[in-house]
Amino acid sequence: MQNKPFSIAIDGPAGAGKSTMAKALAKSLDAMYLDTGAMYRAIGLYMLRRDAVNNAAAIAKAVEDVDIAVRYIDGAQHLFLGDEDVSQAIREPEVSMAASTVSAVPEVRERMVALQRGIAEGQNVVMDGRDIGTKVLPNATLKIYLTASAEERARRRCRELEEKGMPESYEKVLQDMIRRDYQDTHRAASPLQPAEDSVHVDSSNMTIDETVALMRRLAIEAIEKR
Ligand code: C5P
Repeated sequence: MQNKPFSIAIDGPAGAGKSTMAKALAKSLDAMYLDTGAMYRAIGLYMLRRDAVNNAAAIAKAVEDVDIAVRYIDGAQHLFLGDEDVSQAIREPEVSMAASTVSAVPEVRERMVALQRGIAEGQNVVMDGRDIGTKVLPNATLKIYLTASAEERARRRCRELEEKGMPESYEKVLQDMIRRDYQDTHRAASPLQPAEDSVHVDSSNMTIDETVALMRRLAIEAIEKR
């Protein structure tokens, strides 16, 4: 029966192409796309502005009250802090590290996971992040662990930053990425790790179109098997 909604979980390290692939996959499956990293980035930005990124107690307190919302405008996901659309601001490189730091605070994860499950409830959804298959959607129809070599991920991130008019040197991007991956895989609360039942996809030597096509095949197979 095709009635039960499906959910596709995509996890993996920074710069593996998760959002690009997940967005394209969601479109091709006519499902909703939720970029969960954007939510942690919004909390990171909120704490950066309060100069409290390294104060776990302040972060735990602030996350209770922060007015954070995900809205879809013309089909695109936007992040709001109060009335402010922070969708651009959260893409600044310094926010990446701040997001990684605040996301290690258990209270932050608790609130974000609850929000994410609420947004996805009852819908066909493709969600990407670090803990989707292991924590947010443990019963996902399909779990993909998307990787690429660190060098390839850094090259892609450099290109992306350049296109956005925020160029950074390759060495700095690679170093920041390795640091962030280390932090994300070594934290106590929901560290980045492949779910046991995930399918590993290494996109190092594949184009975006090839990767999306492979993921789409896997998704359709899993949806039909439900
Ligand atoms: O995916 P993105 O690079 O936007 O995520 C920013 C940071 O948010 C990650 O480095 C990670 O620390 C955190 N994150 C997380 N759990 C998720 C998504 C992102 O901890 N589901």
